[in-house]
Amino acid sequence: MARSPQIVIVGAGMSGLLMGMRLMAAGIDTFTIHEKADRVGGTWRDNTYPGLICDVPAQLYCYADRPNPDWRHRFARGGEIQTYLERVADQAGLRRFIRFGSEIAGAAFRDGRWHIETARGDRLAADVLIAASGFLHRPRYPDIPGLDSFAGPVFHAARWNHAVELAGARVGLLGTGSTGVQIAPAVVDIVGKLSVFQRTPQWLLPFPDHEYSAFERASGRRLPLLNRIAYRVFSLIFEWTFARAVIGNRVLQACFQRLCQLNLNRNVKDPALRARLQPDYRAGCKRLLFSSAFYKAIQKPNAELVDTAIERVVPSGIRTTDGRLHELDVLVLATGFHAHDYMRPMWLAGADGLTLDEAWKDGPEAYRAVALPGFPNLFMMIGPGSPVGNFSLIAIAEAQADYIVQLVRRIAAGEIASVAPTRAATARFNAERRAAMRDTVWSTGCRSWYLDQRGVPDIWPWSIGRFRRDMRRPDLADYEIVPAARPR
Ligand code: NAP
Repeated sequence: MARSPQIVIVGAGMSGLLMGMRLMAAGIDTFTIHEKADRVGGTWRDNTYPGLICDVPAQLYCYADRPNPDWRHRFARGGEIQTYLERVADQAGLRRFIRFGSEIAGAAFRDGRWHIETARGDRLAADVLIAASGFLHRPRYPDIPGLDSFAGPVFHAARWNHAVELAGARVGLLGTGSTGVQIAPAVVDIVGKLSVFQRTPQWLLPFPDHEYSAFERASGRRLPLLNRIAYRVFSLIFEWTFARAVIGNRVLQACFQRLCQLNLNRNVKDPALRARLQPDYRAGCKRLLFSSAFYKAIQKPNAELVDTAIERVVPSGIRTTDGRLHELDVLVLATGFHAHDYMRPMWLAGADGLTLDEAWKDGPEAYRAVALPGFPNLFMMIGPGSPVGNFSLIAIAEAQADYIVQLVRRIAAGEIASVAPTRAATARFNAERRAAMRDTVWSTGCRSWYLDQRGVPDIWPWSIGRFRRDMRRPDLADYEIVPAARPR
């Protein structure tokens, strides 16, 4: 017998909004989206650092059925993506489902339902819990002695303090990942001096950006087919180049390595500086970065690359192990995220009281990245092992949402009371995943946030095609299903 399952979605970022849209499309409107902040947008709301650009082409970094002809560049600026997500929330009619300022503190599965507590102390019950809380959102602060002693402002790039005046200041930028290489060129012409603290050199590909003309944008508005073609073309390019290179295609990998090397050789003329920027691991082992501006920025007269290890932070700056004191007024930490803290700080207790900490004591693992044994009717968007290389996370989330909706429909149809993957299927999937990892570039020896606490890349080791196939429909043989009680 059909029923109206109560569904709680955690987070109104890109994947939470998407989940809401997919449920609405399935005719299910008994859901609420709980958002801890007061705006939608997730990572695009939180990250406002100067130079923020999404390095996935804009036409691909949008919901497939909601193209945006208004992108101003081939690669969207962070603010534009935030505007896009706000607009989608309005146009899709999602706002009535969103509870702002409602942080989910934790949830326990008892008597066939999720009993949920918010940080404010409200209690809710739901039949289905969907975590769409993102994974690169808990800033990682470096464990450097004396950090608290710094006399000037210190902030993490993902919590940019716009009240701090950078003009003329001596700024220390810690970290040269995707974030650091975007910030450096954006601030170098404003600050008095920029000291970029590099622990490991990065491979950089040239950034093929392009500003769309008014004519190009008008064409996209008038001929929506153009946007769909661009989506498909960029998707195919990524799928057949990057996505193949990183999972073991040696020829493509060598091509990317060569392109990166040429980029370095051509753009850094001083051999001594070039040597300090030369990575000693395979291109793609860490996330491959795009930038045509970083090398230029670091060669400006007011910029300095500091690659001597940091000894400690002192009130007036950073002391490196060569005894040098780098005097600073402001310290920016582009030091990444706790990338494996899925769903945290939320606590969860599944069936029989199994906690998330117990289930993941050896590191987070999931069944096909979307579900967890022992946690019935809990689904994850961009959960552990999702394909998070350089492909559009929106396209990945769409496949996951479609998969999850198929299970939720069965719950709504009254066929299933609860569903969770079996331990055997989850173990089998992850054993296969770990074995496939050996061929990937992420396992070729480098430090990166892809690696979990066991040193295994927490990512999808197969093709995007296999991901789509695995997400096409749930294999119910892999699930432990409690059928819904039949009415007498
Ligand atoms: P990240 O890739 O983890 O880079 C962190 C940087 O900080 C690295 O250079 C790291 O050095 C350095 N670092 C960390 N701890 C340090 C310490 N104690 N001392 C000195 N250096 C330290 O973080 P991210 O740059 O924020 O990027 C994270 C991910 O966010 C990206 O890979 C990407 O998926 C996403 N992102 C995407 C975009 C985009 O355009 N799509 C933009 C920004 C972020 P090591 O290399 O030695 O570890």
